[in-house]
Order: sequence, then C-alpha cells, then structure tokens
Amino acid sequence: MGFDLDNIVRENIKRLVPYSSARSEYSGRAGIFLDANENSFGSPIFEDYSRYPDPKQIAIKKRIASQKEVDPDQIFIGNGSDEAIDLLIRAVCHPRIDNILICPPTYGMYEVAASINDVSIKRANLTSDFALDLKVIEDSIDLNTKLIFLCSPNNPTGNLVLRTDILKIAKSFHGLVVVDEAYIHFSDQNSLISEIDKFPNLVVLQTFSKAWGLAGLRVGLAYANHEIIDLLNKIKSPYNVSQIAQEMILEAMEHQCVIEQTIAEIKHERHRLAQGLERLSNVERVYPSEANFLLVKMKDADEIYRFLVIRQIIVRNRSNVVLCSGCLRITVGTPGENESLLTALAEYETSSE
Ligand code: PMP
Repeated sequence: MGFDLDNIVRENIKRLVPYSSARSEYSGRAGIFLDANENSFGSPIFEDYSRYPDPKQIAIKKRIASQKEVDPDQIFIGNGSDEAIDLLIRAVCHPRIDNILICPPTYGMYEVAASINDVSIKRANLTSDFALDLKVIEDSIDLNTKLIFLCSPNNPTGNLVLRTDILKIAKSFHGLVVVDEAYIHFSDQNSLISEIDKFPNLVVLQTFSKAWGLAGLRVGLAYANHEIIDLLNKIKSPYNVSQIAQEMILEAMEHQCVIEQTIAEIKHERHRLAQGLERLSNVERVYPSEANFLLVKMKDADEIYRFLVIRQIIVRNRSNVVLCSGCLRITVGTPGENESLLTALAEYETSSE
C-alpha cells in the first residue's frame, strides 16, 4: 500500500470544522478592534501585548521560507517541536487502534505523546552501533502503524541516521516518516527539508531551542508538503505561538551570522570536551557526536552522576536506557563550564583511587 494522506488521517479530523479565531477571520491592520474580547485599555504594565498574536505566524513563515527555499505553506510553527510531535500523532492515530514506531534509544517525547493519546508504540531498537535496523523496522510495521519517528542526529546517542536509510523507509512506508532534526545545525549533514517535495509523507522537525539558543521562547517547526501542514494548522490551538515569541524569532533571524559563530564554537568545544573526557580513566568511551552533547560510557556512571550533582553540575544519567547502560549524556557547555566538569571528574578519579 503506497502513501495517501487521505487513507491515514482520522475520520473525525477530516470532518472537523476548525475553530475560527477573530484574528483569522479579520487580519487587516488598521481599525478599531472590538472583535476578540481583548482589553482595549491595554495592560497597565506592558505595552503592546494586549492583542492576540497572528495565529498563522505569517511574517516568520515568509522569512523562513525564503531562507530554506520552501513555500510558507510548507511550514508549521508550534509551541516547541514537542507540539508538532503531539499534533502529528493526534491527526493520524486512532487511540487504541493505531500505533507509532520508534527506534530506541531515542528522544522520549515520541513515546510519551503517543501514550497520552492512548496510541501504542512499536520499538525497533537501533543496532549496537546506533544505526537503523531496517529489517526489524520492516518486520515491526503493520497496517495500523501510522507514524515512524526517526531522530537525526539522534538524542541521546548523538549520531546521524543515514539519509539513504530514511529515504528508503519513506519510499515504501504507507504512513508518515517524521525526521526530528532538532540537532541538525551542529552536524555537517544537510537537512532533509530539501526532500519534502519529492517525498509526500516526509515531515522534518526543527527547533529554535538548540542552535538558536531560544529554548525559553518555545518555538519549533515542522516542514512537509502543504496538505500535512494544513492538517496541523487545522488542529493546533488558535494562538499557539505568543506575540513575544514571534517578535523575538524575527529579531533573532536578523543575526544569522552570530548564530553560525556560536554553532562553530559549540562544535569546537565538543571536540575539546571529548578529548578531555577521553583522557580520564573512568571514561570507557566517548561516542562520536554530531549534536551539542556527548554520550559517554563510564565505569561507574551512577556514582559519578551523584558526585557531580553534589558539585552542582547536572548531566543526564542515561544508564537505564536501552543500549546506553553506564552512559551519561553531557551537554557541551561554555569553555568555563566544560573546564569545571573536567576538573570535577578528575577530582572524582583522585578521590576514588
Ligand atoms: N526533539 C529532540 C530530539 C529533542 O531532544 C528535543 C528537546 N530536548 C525536542 C525535540 C523538543 O524541542 P522543543 O524545545 O522544540 O520542543
């Protein structure tokens, strides 16, 4: 069975008449706005935020579209890419009937979002070198598998998923293939956004939370053909991206050069941190990373994790995650932060000798 969006969208979503917000019915600029029950006196504390934001985030989409060479209607903007993950599941998965496929170890929200929606999960674990296991993926899929989530670079392993593998899956799968590129800006790989015209079932997620350093704004993106994007827009909450977030994103996009510099610095620090870690006798392996974190196999990860917490250095303990036993996931920090981490780890070694 080939891909046909109509075959996989939930019937209730097809029938849904979306909420029509005041600002989507009239989006002109001038005039007296008495249509949205806003407070026309404004806020006594903050200027400029008494009105609802653009529900379609048109200014940002235009800006991103020209940069990424896509149409504005191939872009969805959400309250973080986590919102897109949830909406994709809700759009196509019938609770208790359909399922999604994930490739552990991977980002935890695919599973959580599916579980919240009462959608079951199929798991096709990565191979021991963290590659996709195409045979297991193929064998795991059934007619009710509506979405496959692939994360590239993958969290928590840090490696890229082979582009050829992703496209091979997209070619043969009857549902949506969602490629989460939250960390793509830290890798040397090109984004799969360039493939959305050729693969009608491909969805690419990106975010302003990582390379752009704007996790607090909560702005994430999905790129796909416009029928999929229309679907997400149909079911999102009307004003899902705040006015402040929209303004700040537009402003941030004026500073592309600075962002490129920061990315280069993070990549440089990633290399330095990996070298520093490899010198420690407790470190068994630093996995190669194309992201802004390192997965590190340690001799006594749990104990080191607790030692670092006492030093107020918080890393992520991934010891209990499949294929990651004994591993900590360490975000690449500033040079000072990385130095503090390496010093603390060296102290741990001396104290445990
Ligand atoms: N995808 C991956 C792989 C992530 O690691 C994260 C956050 N850690 C997200 C998505 C969520 O990003 P956002 O802040 O855009 O919701």
